[in-house]
Amino acid sequence: MGGRRLKEGGNRAGGDPEIRRSVLWSGRSVAYHGGRQRWTEEPGLLEVANLEVVYHDVILVLRGVSFQVPDGQIVALLGANGAGKTTVLRAISGLLDVHNGDMTKGEIILDGTPIHNASAAAIVGRGVTQVLEGRRVFGEFTVEENLRVGAHTARGDLSGQMDRVYELFPILADRRKSTAGYLSGGEQQMLAMGRAMMSNPRYLILDEPSLGLAPILVQRIRDLIVDINQQGTSILLVEQNATMALSIAQHGYIMETGKIVMDKPAAELMKDEDVQEFYLGLHSGGEERKSFRDVKHYKRRKRWLS
Ligand code: ATP
Repeated sequence: MGGRRLKEGGNRAGGDPEIRRSVLWSGRSVAYHGGRQRWTEEPGLLEVANLEVVYHDVILVLRGVSFQVPDGQIVALLGANGAGKTTVLRAISGLLDVHNGDMTKGEIILDGTPIHNASAAAIVGRGVTQVLEGRRVFGEFTVEENLRVGAHTARGDLSGQMDRVYELFPILADRRKSTAGYLSGGEQQMLAMGRAMMSNPRYLILDEPSLGLAPILVQRIRDLIVDINQQGTSILLVEQNATMALSIAQHGYIMETGKIVMDKPAAELMKDEDVQEFYLGLHSGGEERKSFRDVKHYKRRKRWLS
């Protein structure tokens, strides 16, 4: 077993109480399996624990949100407008200040180490990068200039990383000299994702990447998320398009008014009646799909856990 132990923790992640977890200088975690008397290397973990966020000192928006993104997985965070999904992402990425928000309780932990007091740049440096909602690219810069901006906290060499991004998004290679503002919506989303990939993240956080895109492009973005994940980046995916998100995620969490109200393996969420009714737009008959707008404005409110 390489590396040196930083600290030992309890069994916060749940499971066998006999297992003690520790974090190595290398950033990898290990677990001591008491009964079996051995250490094994464990995948890392991005963990949000009991997160409470207040805007402008008075508006309580998150009320004890907890969830995990294990290394190598795609995890979906779903919920209606205003549930608090973007606020969770702002807290993880260290961007609450910009929006007059404060984390008043809880922890955000990467591989056993709290990151919630780190600056936004330091969090990117630790390997956690967010693609903001609305695919904000620098419209007057070229594609390549946008990618260079994404590399300013890069962990790795710039040209190698740019080659990898061009391989992942060949359309960006074709358009490398084009002005970003003239790209289509789908191309701008790819550029925003490509720019985030320039920092060589371990965890990529996506805020509604399919928003406003035609179905064919949603499919393209979906495939790209899978490719990125298969190349070793874990994904936290916030989506209104629950069908798309659950079709590629291993696990899903559902938020309502600042709380997680349900979490299950994605395949089980897909089959859950309430999820089908509110997020997948299926009537109880199971066949006919409502439009997304119908789902969003669905009148009969139902509390998930009441
Ligand atoms: P959407 O999909 O509509 O973005 P969301 O689930 O991402 O919804 P948030 O954007 O996190 O939800 O918003 C959660 C609540 O916090 C909403 O009531 C919103 O009005 C409020 N909110 C968000 N940003 C701020 C802010 N800067 N100041 C005050 N209130 C805010």
